[in-house]
Amino acid sequence: MAIIDFKEIPQANIANGEQDIFELFAREFFHTIGFSIIQDPDRGQDGGRDIIVSEKRTGIIGDSDIKWLVSCKHKAHGGTAVNAGDEEDISDRIQAHNCNGFIGFYSTIVSAPLNRKLEALKERYEVQIFDREKIERILLENGSANKLIRRFFPKSFSEIELKSPTNLLSEYLPLRCKVCGKDLLQRDILDHYQGIVVFVQDLQYYEVGWKHKYTDIYCVCKGECDRKMEAVARAHGYVTSWNDVSDLVIPIEFLKFVIAIMNRMRNSDDIYTDEAYENLKSIIITLAQITMKRQSEREIQRSNSLSELPEGL
Ligand SMILES: [Zn+2]
Repeated sequence: MAIIDFKEIPQANIANGEQDIFELFAREFFHTIGFSIIQDPDRGQDGGRDIIVSEKRTGIIGDSDIKWLVSCKHKAHGGTAVNAGDEEDISDRIQAHNCNGFIGFYSTIVSAPLNRKLEALKERYEVQIFDREKIERILLENGSANKLIRRFFPKSFSEIELKSPTNLLSEYLPLRCKVCGKDLLQRDILDHYQGIVVFVQDLQYYEVGWKHKYTDIYCVCKGECDRKMEAVARAHGYVTSWNDVSDLVIPIEFLKFVIAIMNRMRNSDDIYTDEAYENLKSIIITLAQITMKRQSEREIQRSNSLSELPEGL
């Protein structure tokens, strides 16, 4: 689901003074997630680009330090996997620096032959691979590592900012699937149009009063979760209609959705049970985290001084 574009870090073999940025990124990365840097990225006399980091492990009888040799390979621009030939003399390098383990820090993936070579190495040393997916996951999920995105990947950072939930509410509210509990506002789910908002309507009421009476409103994943809920509604003689969550997080679509609901209420076309109405309100508030712009600190303070937003809506 590549969210971070590693090509934002210049290629290592271009001699424009920026060649060490990927190694610098690696250094900052390990420092941020709690490793101590013993030796900085430095080409040195041997021409190697390895970084030496240490990890403190807390054990029952005491702490121990694990020294890792970090090998950085930035091949994102060519898009090729890191090959066995790219990593020569791994054991010698580990021994030369008196390390206990090897970390491959790669902006692409590991080729099958290198993988086999590393598997064999595991008999004698600890081996860890940080490939593009693992690095991306840590950058996105680890609060402190998150700051590195802005610094090293400014374009990806603005993309993420554009699409990520705002700080509208004091705490992020997920939009949960009623069946499996998945957060339907997650980027990959939104990108693939996997979530829907479902309106459950009492058809018998319509036949009598010519009004739409909504008995429930909920969110689910398309497919299996939707079918499970649909079966429940049908058993009660209800019908359902739905909107894509991915459409509703587009600001103008969100506004249209809210205005249409208001208009239909004003015209007395629609009636909601208390439960359905409460659910609708919380779905609108939750969606607003995506559709409403990122607020400035001053705006947050001002609205805090007026009152908490969800109250009184
Ligand atoms: Zn689900």
